[in-house]
Amino acid sequence: MIGITPVPAFSDNYLWVLHDDHHAAVIDPGDHRPVADFLAAHGLQLAAILCTHHHADHVGGVEALLAFAGPVPVFGPAAEAIPARTVAVREGDQVHIDALGLDFAVLEVPGHTAGHVAYWGQGLLFCGDTLFACGCGRLFEGTAAQMTASLSKLRALPAATRFYCAHEYTLSNIRFALAVEPDNAALQARQVRESGRRARGLPTLPATLADERDTNPFLRWDQPAVIAAASRHAGRPLTAPHAVFGALRAWKDDFR
Ligand code: ZN
Ligand code: FE
Repeated sequence: MIGITPVPAFSDNYLWVLHDDHHAAVIDPGDHRPVADFLAAHGLQLAAILCTHHHADHVGGVEALLAFAGPVPVFGPAAEAIPARTVAVREGDQVHIDALGLDFAVLEVPGHTAGHVAYWGQGLLFCGDTLFACGCGRLFEGTAAQMTASLSKLRALPAATRFYCAHEYTLSNIRFALAVEPDNAALQARQVRESGRRARGLPTLPATLADERDTNPFLRWDQPAVIAAASRHAGRPLTAPHAVFGALRAWKDDFR
C-alpha cells in the first residue's frame, strides 16, 4: 500500500513523498530539511528522487538530501541542469522505482521551463509547475503554443488520473477562473469545496483531470464561454487554441 504525503515547504510548495512502511521516493525536494525530518520521523529509507524542472524550489534540496540519506538515483529532465542527476529522462522513458514497485512514464511538457517533464503511472501524475489545480505555470522559458501542446498532452490522460502539482495556488486560481467563467456551475461548486478544505488546513490536492476539464480555464481553450472571455479581454476575436490560451495566460499574469 503506497502512501502519498505532501510535505509542505517554503510558503506554498508541496514536496510529494511516495512511501510504503520502509521506503520512500520524493518528487521535487526544493528543501531537504522537511523531507529529512519526514523520513526520520517515519523510519523511511530514501529510494529515489524525481525532479520535474530546474527551478530552485524544486531541486534546491537534492544534494543535501543525498548527503543525509545516502546515494539514490536522481531522475531529471535531460534538457535541464539538475543537481546530482544520475538519470537523464526524455519523453517515453520509463522510471522504475524497484523498492516501491512503481513505474512512471516520462512526458515532456515544455512551457514553464524549456525542459520540464511530468511523471505518469499507476493513475498518478506528478506535474511540477505545468498544470495546477484550476491553473497552470507561468511561461518563463516557453511559448503559449508549447504550453498548449503540453497541457493537451496532460488533458488527454484518463479522466480519473489524480494529479499532484507542486504548489497550493488553488483558491487564487479559482478567483481568476471565475473571472473568466462566472457562470460555470462546476467551478462555483469547486470554490465552495476547496475553500472548505483550506479553512480546515487541508491541501486541495490531489485533484482529478476530470475536475480540471470541467473547471480549469487553461484546459478549456475550446469552450465557447472561455473563447468569448479571452477574446473580450484581448480586444479581438481569438480562435486558435494557443491564441486563446496565450490571452488567458497574459490576463492571469496581471490579475489581482
Ligand atoms: Zn517552477
Ligand atoms: Fe515552483
